[in-house]
This record gives sequence, C-alpha cells and structure tokens, in this order.
Amino acid sequence: MPRHFDPALVNDPFDDPGLYVDLVFEKRALLFDLGDISRLSARKLLRVSDVFVTHLHMDHFAGFDQLLRCALGREKTLGVYGPAGIINAVEHKLSAYSWNLIDGYDGNLTFLVTELDELGRLKSARFSGRSRFERRDDDETRAIEGLVLKEPGIQVRATTLDHGLPVLAFALEERAQINVWRNKVEAMGLVVGPWLRNFKSATLQGANDATLIPVTWRDGGDDRPAALPLGFLKKEIMQITSGRKIVYVVDCAYTDANIEKIIRLAERADMLFIEATFLDVDFEAAAKRRHLTARQAGMLARRAGVKRLVTLHYSPRYRGQGERLAQEAQEAFLAR
Ligand SMILES: [Zn+2]
Repeated sequence: MPRHFDPALVNDPFDDPGLYVDLVFEKRALLFDLGDISRLSARKLLRVSDVFVTHLHMDHFAGFDQLLRCALGREKTLGVYGPAGIINAVEHKLSAYSWNLIDGYDGNLTFLVTELDELGRLKSARFSGRSRFERRDDDETRAIEGLVLKEPGIQVRATTLDHGLPVLAFALEERAQINVWRNKVEAMGLVVGPWLRNFKSATLQGANDATLIPVTWRDGGDDRPAALPLGFLKKEIMQITSGRKIVYVVDCAYTDANIEKIIRLAERADMLFIEATFLDVDFEAAAKRRHLTARQAGMLARRAGVKRLVTLHYSPRYRGQGERLAQEAQEAFLAR
C-alpha cells in the first residue's frame, strides 16, 4: 500500500514552532517540536507515536505536559527523540507529579526516550507508568549517519546544529516503494503470490540483475524455467516510486558549519520547513540571537535543491508583516 505523508504546521508562524505529520495509511502521526500544542485536538494528539524535539528551549518543549496528560491511561509507547539532555528533561517532567494512583489506570503509558549527542552516540531510557515512571536506562549505541528512527517504511535522520547550544534538525524519509503490476504478472502466466516478496526484497537490497528469482507459474510450469533473472523481472513487472522526504530546521545560526549540514540534510527534499525568524535587514540581530533570516532560509532551500519551501518561527517583532518574511524567503529560494 502506498504511504502518504500529510504535513501541517501546528501553529501560526508567529507562534511556537511545530510540525504535525500524519502518516495517513498507518493511522498514526509524528510530531516535530513540542511547544504550544494546544491547537492539536485530543484525537490528533493520540495519533502521535513519536515526537522529535529539536532542543529544550521552552517554545520547543513546554507542550510535554499536555501530551502526557492526553496520553495518560492509554496503552501506548511514545517515542521521544532529542538532543543530549532530553532523557533528564523527561525524567524531571515526570517526577514533578505524584503517581500513587496510577495503578488504577487501564492502559500503561510508556515513554521511550532517545537522545543523540554531538559525537553521534545514542542513549535511551524508558519510563513506564506501571513502575510510576521510574527511569530504566538502555544500552548506549551509535547512530549510523544520524539515523534515530529506522522502520521498514520510514526513517528519521538528525543532524546537530549550533544555536549557542546543540539543536537537532530532522529529515523524515519514506523508503522507496516497489509497485508490482498485477496484470503484467498474470499476463506472463505467473501467479501473484509469495514469490514476489523474494523479488521485492532482492530489488530493495540492490541484488545483481543476474540473480535468479524462483517464480510460480499458473499452470504448474512443467516446461518453463523455475527461476527468472531479477533484471528481467524488474523490467517487466514493476515500477519504483522514490520515497518522499520532509525536513524540519529551526533555531540555528547562519554559520558555515550549519549551512553545510542543513544543505546535506535537506538535499532534494520534497518539502523544507525552516525558520525565517528575522528580515534580512536585521541580519545582525539574527546573528546575535543565532537565528536565520528569511533570505538565508531561502538561500539554504535553493542550495539544497528542495521542491517546496515553508517558513515558520517568525519573530514577534514583525507581527502583522508575516507576508514580508515569507516573500523574502521565497524570493531568495527562486532567485537565479
Ligand atoms: Zn525557538
């Protein structure tokens, strides 16, 4: 079944940053940043399976309590990902409340918190409602190429940017989809059956075209080959749809190191959600606060070759002039 991302900003660009990505066919959602989330309905919040927190400034994390309150009593494991320090932050949030009555809840809510530090180490800890959210540390591992979430259908990669403190930027990527033409398989006299699984996984693993794939013929295939070359099958019966990519970047200075990392992370993304906090005439203020200007955001989008640019996280000093920020970014994005 084809997957489909449906991304939407949680708030107006002048309010707390946040991106809600509904994974339509999986009946769940991912949430990037956890500031003011009061505009998300309980139904939407309950769809969230994983939350990606860029850093621990209040406008990116103060919504934890609302998420906790909404999910409490549900049978659910919530993944929380963030920079070094997020395990402690979640521990402190949870330890701020009394849990003496939690045994009376039907479902067990568990937080599985993972932090990625600047050296690429992944630490995780779990907090289970059944044990009154007491912290249990897991073994430390290493992130391969910044991967923090890896599932068969999607993955999320993070990179560490500088905002005076480490901030994570995230790329959500859908794996390439292999679509098999049923009618073509049948027209060849083959059965649409379990052998196709083998064919798909060989394709995804990039196996050599000469690899022989055992096939099943509809008529038993007594006088036909028991296996066909991968390359031939690929040409005849399938189409690959490359996966979509959505990137989320907020709170970072326009430094050489950040520029390089953002461009690499956002390369050819379908959508880039990026802060455009200041107008470029105020670039000195932006540098001092370690934020991007709208023009800088647009230039980054252009250099990364993204298809679509969406700006957010506008400074309140421009309230009423949001169009100017959006326009400045789009102009730099589309400039030749
Ligand atoms: Zn911020």
